Amino acid sequence: MKAAVYRGAQRFEVTEVPTPEPGAGEVLVQVRQSAICGTDVHAFMYDIAPPGSVIGHEIAGVIAELGPGVDRFSVGERVVAGGGDHPDGAPRSPRANPRYNYRTMGFQGGVTGGYAEYQILPEWRPTRIPDNVPDEAAVLTEPCAVAVHAVRRSSVKLGDTVAVLGAGPIGMLVTQAVRAAGATRVLVSEPAPGRADAVMELGADVIVNPFEEDVVKRLVELSDGFGPAVVFDCAGFNDTLNQAFEATRRAGQVMLVAVPWEPLPIDPVDWMAREVDFRTSFASEPEDWRISLQLLSSGRISASALMSEASVISLEEIQQAFEGLMKPSSQLQMVINF
Ligand SMILES: [Zn+2]
Repeated sequence: MKAAVYRGAQRFEVTEVPTPEPGAGEVLVQVRQSAICGTDVHAFMYDIAPPGSVIGHEIAGVIAELGPGVDRFSVGERVVAGGGDHPDGAPRSPRANPRYNYRTMGFQGGVTGGYAEYQILPEWRPTRIPDNVPDEAAVLTEPCAVAVHAVRRSSVKLGDTVAVLGAGPIGMLVTQAVRAAGATRVLVSEPAPGRADAVMELGADVIVNPFEEDVVKRLVELSDGFGPAVVFDCAGFNDTLNQAFEATRRAGQVMLVAVPWEPLPIDPVDWMAREVDFRTSFASEPEDWRISLQLLSSGRISASALMSEASVISLEEIQQAFEGLMKPSSQLQMVINF
């Protein structure tokens, strides 16, 4: 099969590798679409993906072969690569470690990932895709689950005004998920015009341009002088975390969703007297995947505005795509089509 093997030092090699055979309790999934995740771009940029590995975890595919003893699926069923509950006794991911550190334990070796024509999964992990959810939408189930997880961890209540800083794929999905959760006003800060247009189409009420406007002042004005009840930082840049703390209303909440890889200076004296809560949200749990598939199926979350024609590429273009995504960009969600 064709696979993009990570060779280290920011280099993928698209090459032929043996198609893996499913062992007992495993399924072989033929990948139809594979979305490029910001997490993978970080793994590439900071060179933490193990050389020789195939990464990628946002796929929509079809069960191609069953290993011995598999009875949960049949060949030909459409699946995403998560959402199944972890059974007792199955090997745990490093994330189960109570002292899990994303920087040092985030990417371990031996991964068969989604940037390849086939991927092996333990049979308990995939979830069937509802018939009315096309592959192009199902491929975003994992980032959607990240957004759903963040919203479910937040204190958002019916009627709240919330803010989302950064309208990359996760910010766009948080905008929709928080709306589904009952926020009545969603304010989004995003400088790139293409992303701003897309997130407006997806249900943002107001876009603030952080390069042209004072974000904190605007967010406070737009929430009756109080500040948003919850601010989701989906950018993780130098300025955004401080903006989140400064804009949030008294006893409001800052939810850090993006993973900032650089130290961020913060200035607590400016906001700590408002007794702001701070929470982080990382990745997702299986039930967030199942909720995401329901939200995609019912149309409460739409994937279409996250993609343009230019964002669908072939596996051969992966190197170029990752290099482009390392720079701040106005690129929408990128998807590899097999
Ligand atoms: Zn992801």
